[in-house]
Amino acid sequence: MTILLDGKIVRDSVAGELKNKILGLEKKLKLAILQVGNKEESNKYIEQKKLFAEKIGAEVIHVRFSEDVSQEKICAEIQKLNGDASVHGIIVQLPLPETLDKNLIIQNIDPIKDVDGLTSANTKLLWKNEKGHVPATARGILTLLDYYKIEIKGKKVVVVGRSQLVGKPVALSFLNRDAIVIVCHRGTSSIMSETKQADILVVAAGNPEFITKDFVREGQVVVDVGINVKKSEHQSEEILHKKVVGDVNFAEVSPIVSAISPVPGGVGPMTVLSLFQNLLDAYIMIEEK
Ligand code: NAP
Repeated sequence: MTILLDGKIVRDSVAGELKNKILGLEKKLKLAILQVGNKEESNKYIEQKKLFAEKIGAEVIHVRFSEDVSQEKICAEIQKLNGDASVHGIIVQLPLPETLDKNLIIQNIDPIKDVDGLTSANTKLLWKNEKGHVPATARGILTLLDYYKIEIKGKKVVVVGRSQLVGKPVALSFLNRDAIVIVCHRGTSSIMSETKQADILVVAAGNPEFITKDFVREGQVVVDVGINVKKSEHQSEEILHKKVVGDVNFAEVSPIVSAISPVPGGVGPMTVLSLFQNLLDAYIMIEEK
């Protein structure tokens, strides 16, 4: 029988431990979220973070800028938060408008408070397999597999996608856990033959349901990172029916493989959990400094 890698169950189980640790802290654990504009998707993700924070007893401050804000103003706010001892983590909700230089803005975050793990300093630590903040999705995937006692060491892991936010940190995280890692992208000539070799297949392509039964074989573990909003076939002008699907065709793939994460309810909840695990790590690092 196929095991469902249920991110909600894991999140709720680990959230209890996290809450107990947070209750034992001297100061309130605090995350600052910087948002530019008012994108519906971003609002939704921020809301999920706020709800989770409330559940575990952490605090969130939400700084919202108008769409036409200058880069200097955002950087000045980051510098202010860097110097604020009551703030332990700072994240910039992505995507940013194209007029802004995302990398320049993120580099302003103090690496200890960079709980999204996106500054060069944290990337370098991940590269060197040293202690730092690992991007939340990568950390979440490993926590999910560990919870279900899925062996990583020595396993062949195929990652589809090589983005800075997901694919690359995921690949490095597995490499740091002694897996044998292959990374696929649009330039990979035969993705099917690569994915079929995997013991663990992680798909982060942003391509709705493109991993069909032809890409997998029996016994594999499949982790679907994709979040794609699909319009319903019965779409009408008046009522918008939106359905969230992953990068994996769940109906076709799930009967074949040995374990699979669903979308929604797989990696998504793990990403939120991992952000707050990073925040707690940041608190400890700041206190130890
Ligand atoms: P991205 O920046 O667009 O990167 C997509 C990557 O997939 C690229 O490296 C691209 O290759 C590769 N790719 C796309 N189509 C492909 C194909 N047909 N064959 C081979 N490779 C292909 O996206 P991202 O930020 O990494 O996000 C990926 C997905 O994960 C999205 O659906 C996103 O919404 C989701 N996501 C989920 C979470 C979560 O918590 N569950 C968190 C973050 C992102 P090239 O480099 O060659 O272009």
